[in-house]
Amino acid sequence: MVADLVARGITDEAVLTALRSVPRHGFIEGALDAEAYLDKALPIQSGQTISQPFTVAYQTQLLKLRPGMKVLEIGTGSGYQAAVLAVMGMRVFTVEIDRRLYLEARSRLEDLGYAVNCQHSDGSSGWAAHQPYDCILVTAATPAVPDALRNQLGIGGRLVVPVGGLTSQRMMVVTRLAKAEFQSEILHEFKFVPLRGKYGFQTG
Ligand code: SAH
Repeated sequence: MVADLVARGITDEAVLTALRSVPRHGFIEGALDAEAYLDKALPIQSGQTISQPFTVAYQTQLLKLRPGMKVLEIGTGSGYQAAVLAVMGMRVFTVEIDRRLYLEARSRLEDLGYAVNCQHSDGSSGWAAHQPYDCILVTAATPAVPDALRNQLGIGGRLVVPVGGLTSQRMMVVTRLAKAEFQSEILHEFKFVPLRGKYGFQTG
């Protein structure tokens, strides 16, 4: 699996090491075990998906992480991405809007020994109590960059978020240069499940 990621342009050794070390099969349902190391998104509970390994690697690489950074993830899902951040030595905060997924991911991360702070809430408004973050990662599609999220970045902090419509989005990297100054980069096309909540898509 990791060799394919290198072929597709993932060069950050720390990211590749983390993907080698986190057992993806521990984050998906038993019947899908055989597929766990294929480079594809797979269904989890509540009609959601665990992102494809390339997408996890791509978003993680864009964060330009250094150990000890405080990172907020929106959309815990299975907990896989949060585990990748934790093994890389980050202080991880993750928010999930679906209660069942939140409960499952929290106990799974604990059982597997990953130190991750989980919260059940609408992450489209971030997690204000622990701001500012060095990095914020959104693992669901947003209609526009949520102001609430970029405002929870520290100066120099990076927000990685897929922005667009329901059928496809472009990856955006928003860097906070100063209190009221942000720089945006628009990168490749992806397809994520929709972000719900106040600043997400109003799909119920
Ligand atoms: N990062 C996950 C995959 C996420 S799929 C993993 O590694 O497995 C997107 C997730 O975002 C879903 O679990 C969905 O329930 C969640 N989500 C959607 N809208 C949300 C919101 N407003 N706040 C928090 N989580 C949300």
